Amino acid sequence: HADAAMYQVKTSGRNNYRFFEVEMNVATLRLVTIQQGLQAAVRENQLFLHYQPKFNCIDNSIQGAEALLRWQHPELGLISPAEFIPIAEKSGQIISVGQWVIEQVCRELSEWRAAGHAMIRIAINLSLVQLRSPSLVQDILTITGRYGVPPEMLMLEITESAAMENAEETRSTVDKLKSVGFMLAIDDFGTGYSSLSHLQDFGVHQMKVDRAFIKTLTREEGRSRSIVSAIIGLAHALEMEVVAEGVETRAQLDVLQELRCDQTQGFLLARPMPKEEFLQLLEAARHASAQPEQV
Ligand code: C2E
Ligand code: MG
Ligand code: MG
Ligand code: MG
Repeated sequence: HADAAMYQVKTSGRNNYRFFEVEMNVATLRLVTIQQGLQAAVRENQLFLHYQPKFNCIDNSIQGAEALLRWQHPELGLISPAEFIPIAEKSGQIISVGQWVIEQVCRELSEWRAAGHAMIRIAINLSLVQLRSPSLVQDILTITGRYGVPPEMLMLEITESAAMENAEETRSTVDKLKSVGFMLAIDDFGTGYSSLSHLQDFGVHQMKVDRAFIKTLTREEGRSRSIVSAIIGLAHALEMEVVAEGVETRAQLDVLQELRCDQTQGFLLARPMPKEEFLQLLEAARHASAQPEQV
């Protein structure tokens, strides 16, 4: 039993072997519970989506929103995607979970449209495992077709590290997705190892600057400001829109405006929220922009 042995070597000198053994079992049990619960989660409606708007940097108008997966587990409570997505990727269950996400977004978009709301572009996160699935393009087209959602209403977010992992293969999938009309974004930019030539070849629509750079943007001592400025320049040279992730303060937003960033996403302007709340926000924004300026 490799895990237990490794663990024994690591902690045997510290005389607290039993304590750690219990800890590990709890973690292992949680992992197994999550992995075994995923199929039921998809089947039994334990999954749901939150939406986090993307705002125009200058006038704060809503440009779209990102769908973020949530799981209300019957025993474990709310589980973060940061915890269960990697488990689903390892087990291959991300394919059915990912299909559920695409279908749910399309279903909700078509419901909004039927209720008379204006269509808004929704971003969906795709994992590397989904990107490698030979049927991905056909699968998404089947779902969008079923709900009558035009492909350009979906922005597919691929992390920089997934995009650059086997870039040739990824590129051909990205090309196919683009050619049938989907929008593409590079997520968490700055944390992977991009080759500039690959980045140029990808020709995706949007670049999302990882929140690690935004976090230190207004610190005197750091170089984040120069780095973010350079990333924005690079993205614009490649004719991509730039979205800053994780914007939490007014000061960060001010700097991003100065640096000509296009869009922001973050707790300052809106947290991920249930769809009802998101629709209310959209309606309120529509009414506000329809009102004449008060003097
Ligand atoms: P991501 O795609 O980079 O999403 C951004 C994450 O940052 C979200 O966490 C969001 O709630 C969080 N965030 C947004 N604004 C702020 C802020 O101002 N400050 C801070 N500290 N955090 C902020 P979340 O929802 O927990 O998702 C984590 C990751 O899980 C996502 O990162 C994405 O990689 C993955 N994920 C979520 N939903 C899906 C999905 O449907 N499919 C796949 N494959 N992955 C997903
Ligand atoms: Mg994302
Ligand atoms: Mg991100
Ligand atoms: Mg991320």
